[in-house]
Amino acid sequence: MSDCLFCKIIAGEIPSSKVYEDELCYAFNDIAPQAPTHFLVIPKEHIGSVSAVTADNSAVVAHIFEVIAKLARELGLESYRVVSNIGEQAGQSVFHLHFHVLSGRDMTWPPG
Ligand code: 5GP
Ligand code: ZN
Repeated sequence: MSDCLFCKIIAGEIPSSKVYEDELCYAFNDIAPQAPTHFLVIPKEHIGSVSAVTADNSAVVAHIFEVIAKLARELGLESYRVVSNIGEQAGQSVFHLHFHVLSGRDMTWPPG
């Protein structure tokens, strides 16, 4: 999608700090980290948010969760949080599906 920030990051048009990449997904450090470890995992295919996941595109979501588990193991993350905000009220600011992976500090529940 030409006017999507994360599609531009995937295309290399906007620089990012890469954590991981394969044919289906891309992971990179968040520009405004909310924890000592804070990276985002996104599908290379443009999907607007969790609310746009369907039977036709959900395989990449399963793949992304495999990648998150693998990266967490490799990075030695013993406790971490995976978050996806859907819609502006929930805090979504970039409308390309992404999963935040946060770790390295105490976290509260429920979230604010
Ligand atoms: P959301 O608010 O949609 O749940 O998450 C979007 C995330 O993207 C935010 O945590 C924000 O800091 C991050 N972000 C926004 N623009 C950029 C950018 O240009 N580069 C990187 N690496 N992260 C970004
Ligand atoms: Zn996009």
